[in-house]
Amino acid sequence: MKVSWDSLNEAVAQCQRCELCRQIHHKVPGQGNAKARLMLIGEGPGYEEDKSGLAFVGPAGQLLTKMLASIQLTREEVYICNVVKCRPPANRVPTPDEMAACMGYLRMQFALVRPQVILLLGATAGRAVLGESFRVTRDRGRFVIKNGVWMMPTYHPSALLRDETGQKKREAWQDLLAVKAKLAEVPAGESRRVSYGVCDQ
Ligand code: SF4
Repeated sequence: MKVSWDSLNEAVAQCQRCELCRQIHHKVPGQGNAKARLMLIGEGPGYEEDKSGLAFVGPAGQLLTKMLASIQLTREEVYICNVVKCRPPANRVPTPDEMAACMGYLRMQFALVRPQVILLLGATAGRAVLGESFRVTRDRGRFVIKNGVWMMPTYHPSALLRDETGQKKREAWQDLLAVKAKLAEVPAGESRRVSYGVCDQ
């Protein structure tokens, strides 16, 4: 199947595949470097994202920008998106049906960006891409390779904002360092075998 950024953006803009589109201000497909080596995937848009149509621009997004800077990456160098492209009411976790309805767009984004490394932010992104049995506290911090793509699950920045002990922040820092090392280890020009199947379970 041939896919383009135009067809993806048009499909998301027109999409009514689930109820999440009923109460939103903007769809939030994602943004960043269309040929990024590193792709980041979160759960879904929040209040600020729904208002602006941009992914990760609220407090969690600002923390994410600092996290990237800590490993010498800018937002312009990576591609950032979410599992669902419409804000769930009151920021609730999207249902399995809502995630399934939206997964086709994430697959299109994988196929277009063809990242070498993916950072999965939080439990919802982990479950959507790695399977229902994923548990962020148990499974974070260990690379999984899938269809030639290295995937690192870690905490969602929102969880880090709520982290009172600092333990999750310390663990997320280790995960980021592992991502930095992996990007240095994988040659930038190495053929990217990403396909639609990268997030099939
Ligand atoms: S969340 Fe995804 S599947 Fe549901 S309406 Fe929005 S774009 Fe479509």
